[in-house]
Formats: sequence, C-alpha cells, structure tokens
Amino acid sequence: MPQSPIPVAVLGATGSVGQRFISLLENHPWFKVVALAASDRSAGQKYSQATRWILDTPMPDYAKDMVIVPANTDAVQAKIVFSALHTEIANELEPQFAKAGSAVCSNASSYRRGEDVPLLLPEINADHIQLVKTQRANKGWSGCIVTNPNCTSTGLTIALKVLDNEFGVKKVFATSLQALSGAGYPGVSSLDIIDNIIPNVGNGGEEEKVEWEPRKMLGKYIEELEPQSSAAGTPRARIELADMRFSVHTNRVAVIDGHTICASVELANQTDHETAEAVLQNYAAPESARELPSSPRPVIEVRSEADRPQPRLDRLTGKGMTTVVGRLRRDPIFDLKFVVLSHNTIRGAAGASIYNAELLVSENLL
Ligand code: NAP
Repeated sequence: MPQSPIPVAVLGATGSVGQRFISLLENHPWFKVVALAASDRSAGQKYSQATRWILDTPMPDYAKDMVIVPANTDAVQAKIVFSALHTEIANELEPQFAKAGSAVCSNASSYRRGEDVPLLLPEINADHIQLVKTQRANKGWSGCIVTNPNCTSTGLTIALKVLDNEFGVKKVFATSLQALSGAGYPGVSSLDIIDNIIPNVGNGGEEEKVEWEPRKMLGKYIEELEPQSSAAGTPRARIELADMRFSVHTNRVAVIDGHTICASVELANQTDHETAEAVLQNYAAPESARELPSSPRPVIEVRSEADRPQPRLDRLTGKGMTTVVGRLRRDPIFDLKFVVLSHNTIRGAAGASIYNAELLVSENLL
C-alpha cells in the first residue's frame, strides 16, 4: 500500500466509461483524482455542468466542481492517467502521456496489439505486466501504456483461462449479446435498438478483437536477456500467442449494462460439466493480483440455476468485478458449452484499468 495517495487523472471523463472511473475512484484507498479531461466541448466547464450523468448511483461530490481540462500533457499531470478515449484520439494522445512520464492505463484498442504492451486481466495473466520493462527499453520513455481488453473478450477469456489450465482449450465458438453502455453515450439510437438486435457491433472490428485478444492474454510471457551487443541486462520479453482457434459473432441487445457470451469449446482432455463447474468456482488469481483493492472476490461465480446468469440479476456480483458463468453442459458438436456474464463498464472497462494500475503500483512498476 502506498504511503500517500497517488495522483491520477481521467481522460474522457464525461463519457460512459469515464463516469465509471469517477464513480469507482471515489474513496479509492490508493488513488486521488487530480484532473478530469475531455474534449474542447467540455473543457473549462465544471464536471457537473458538462456531464450528462447516466449511472444509477449519484455523481460523487469530489468531482462535481472540478473544472474539466483539455486532454494534453500541459493541462494533465498525474502519475497515473486513465484513458477512456476513443481509439483514434487515444492513438495520438496516449504515447504523449507515456513520454511525459505517466503510466497510461487504457481502455482504447489502439495499443492492445503492441508487442511490448501488456494486455492485462490481472486475475489470469498478472505476469504479463512485466512487459512494461521491455516497453520502456524500446521506447525510451519513463511512463508506459498498459491496456485492458475489449469488454466482450474480458469474461470469456477469464473462463477460458481456467478451462485451458485444466483441460486444454483447442477451439472456441462464441456469440455475444452486448449491452448498450458498451457503445458509449449517447450510443445507439432508441429507434435502432428497441424491439431489435443489431449484429456486427461497432460496424465491424469487434469480432476480430474477440478472436485475437484472448490469444494474447492466454499466451505465454517469455523473457530473454539482450544479446551481448546491447545494453547488458536490458529485459527483452514477448508474448507467445496461445495456440487456440476462435469463431465469434457479436450482437448488440437492449440491455443497459452487462455483456453475455454463449460459448462452446473443444477441449484437449475430456471432462464432465460438474468437474468444469468445480474448477471454475475454485479458481484463485495469481498471488500478486489476489489482494489488491479491486481484486474480484470471487474471480468466478458459477450459477447452477438453468436460467442464469442474467444481466439484470448478476452483473453486480462481486461489485461488478466477478465473472459469472452458468449453464455448463455437454456440447454435442464441441465438448462443453456455457454462458458467461461480465459487467462491461466495470470489469470490462474502468474497473479493469484501475485493477491494472493497482498491479503496477504493487509490482513497483510506476
Ligand atoms: P463515450 O461515452 O463516447 O465517451 C468518450 C469520451 O471521450 C468523452 O468524455 C468525450 O468528451 C471524450 N472525447 C471526445 N473527443 C475527445 C477529444 N478530441 N479529446 C479528448 N477527449 C475527447 O465513449 P466510451 O463508451 O466511454 O468509450 C471510451 C473508450 O473505452 C473507447 O475507446 C471504447 O472503445 C472503450 N471501451 C468502452 C467500453 C464500454 O463498455 N463502454 C468497454 C471497454 C472499452 P466530451 O463529453 O467532451 O465529448
């Protein structure tokens, strides 16, 4: 635990994910919010004036009178910068903050594929955080960029990690039912979504993300020392992608929060659904990620009822950080099928970045 609060900032503070940051950072035991940034439309206004608050908990008092600043390194100086920016803006701004010395914990997809950028879910791949040492050596900056996955990859990958550890996962076929808050604010028009389901989330790109990101997170962290010719002792690490094949459909549905994924998996070693339920329920995070302020407790909750998980009933399990799995049963084509639910703006976005930042602090990597 740090001796004194660590100054943090939120970029994109007025949006769907930004508001979750504001809410989750209220009374955080390690972090103190010192700056809120958004677009030029909002800069100069008090947070309470510029923001159309969409959460069902009240806007925290600490944020109401903070004046929003532009998202640049002159206006925002903080040890940790949480990014809830859209990809094209994050592309440009996040490296500027890393260069200026901030640890950028990002929700955007811009740098998730970077070879020296950790794509993290601490409860399954906390060791990948060490990649920031290679990133610093490659880029020559004192800050860093650490990313969390797409909100649909999140719960699916956590469940797959446990099944892969125990039985070896070879193939995954998955269909998502994604909540509206995942499209940001104001997001999808009511005339498009009421009485409807919209396939091809985000006009493309989403399915490819969910087919690729889990392979990086389930991949192996490999560290080698630099050859003699380079700086002695400079860490060189990389991630070897998991050898797993994915086919994914993504759909937007009229649910406010909570992404549901129906998955079928082919396994290297057969199991029955009772054994799979037990290993999922008993899974514990790596020790370094187990007792952080945002650690999910438990990591996975298995529901035994035939009609669970449901977004409205289960998304706030473990304060929205727990992955809820249910309907484990034999798959007549693959081996095992199940349903996963994860809160998209908490475990899948703001809560994810905060958990990553806590891991950076506890591993002395700030
Ligand atoms: P959003 O509701 O549209 O919010 C976007 C935020 O970015 C707003 O605060 C907006 O400020 C700000 N912004 C816009 N243009 C800007 C600029 N030029 N400079 C600085 N700030 C600017 O979006 P969101 O759903 O929160 O998503 C944010 C990011 O998180 C995206 O990359 C998204 O893909 C990712 N993500 C979202 C979810 C989810 O469940 N929603 C999950 C995982 C990842 P103004 O109010 O001033 O316009």
